[in-house]
Amino acid sequence: MSTGTAQPEIELLCDLISRPSITPDDAGCQQLLIERLSALGFECETLIFGTVTNLWARRGKASPVLCFAGHTDVVPPGDEAKWSSAPFTPTLNDGYLYGRGSADMKSGLAAMVVAIEQFLAANPDPAGSLAMLITSDEEGRAREGTLKVVETLAARDEHIDWCVLGEPSSQETLGDVVRIGRRGSLSGILTVNGIQGHVAYPQTTDNPIRRFAPILAQLHEIEWDEGNEHFPPTSFQVVDVHSGAGATNVTPAQLTARFNLRYSTEWSYDTLQERIQQIFDEHDIDYELQWHLSGEPFLTQPGKLIDAVSQAVTELSGSAPELSTGGGTSDGRFISPAGAEVVELGPVNASIHKIDERVRVDDVIKLTAMYRRIMELLLLGDS
Ligand SMILES: [Zn+2]
Repeated sequence: MSTGTAQPEIELLCDLISRPSITPDDAGCQQLLIERLSALGFECETLIFGTVTNLWARRGKASPVLCFAGHTDVVPPGDEAKWSSAPFTPTLNDGYLYGRGSADMKSGLAAMVVAIEQFLAANPDPAGSLAMLITSDEEGRAREGTLKVVETLAARDEHIDWCVLGEPSSQETLGDVVRIGRRGSLSGILTVNGIQGHVAYPQTTDNPIRRFAPILAQLHEIEWDEGNEHFPPTSFQVVDVHSGAGATNVTPAQLTARFNLRYSTEWSYDTLQERIQQIFDEHDIDYELQWHLSGEPFLTQPGKLIDAVSQAVTELSGSAPELSTGGGTSDGRFISPAGAEVVELGPVNASIHKIDERVRVDDVIKLTAMYRRIMELLLLGDS
């Protein structure tokens, strides 16, 4: 489409939105990035795992390695009839660009690529290396995306020193919130076994709903921790309870419940699992428990990356960002454990995953300037 503007980051963003890359389909988005990055001297490697297309692009062999990271996949648009404009037709209106993925996170990608182009045009020979790590599997299962690329890099002893993720971190204005870590996420599926029977003869039955109810109440009342300097308190939520034989005169044989904990660095996967198991064991129930760990919590300590990102945001937005660990999980959980400093800086997240997802055009242009400034601060040494 014609945007009526010559801004290269907006043109690239429109090209990316036009490709309907519903997770885990990349729909040709990475090819666009490869063309731009190859022209700048990046070596681009496409790494395919299962149905997922990933890109590792690097320019230079020296350390330190500053990596921009993100994802090309988007969540499904939902009911397209409810959108003001077609979700995969980028549409400008009132200073905003509408389209699925505009905020999460194709504007981050467009801003990164154009920032790198501008930075290298002015500084063709910076210290260290520049890299991009892009996946098409962040919104989905995330098992064959960034995690696998990080494993591939580790196997050949390639390290990322600093990583800037373009996830939409901002709350109300661009750069007001920068993420320096994320809570852990642990899910469980509980099955409680009972004995089915006639509701009029309870002495011959064992009702799993009755057995589970007090445990559920207890789990919701527990104060897991008070959080700490960097993390909000750990929270437990039950998300699904399923039971019943489908008739009013039959007590069920089984109950299943799904729950999730978002947890701070006061806990690890092991200690949290143990504590919950202990609670179930205190009650007289016949149960099975399956666990799924989405990610351990991570935190980037104060250092050069946080300093550079804070300074760039402050210079270009006029105020210092809040350094936060809120929100859901992100691919930072895979990049951080290998020893990289990881920070997330991206556009306002108010419309992500919603009908009429959008991003302010001015914010994309300003975000490009922020990314460029971060490169100057980290790779030119003395600016
Ligand atoms: Zn995202």
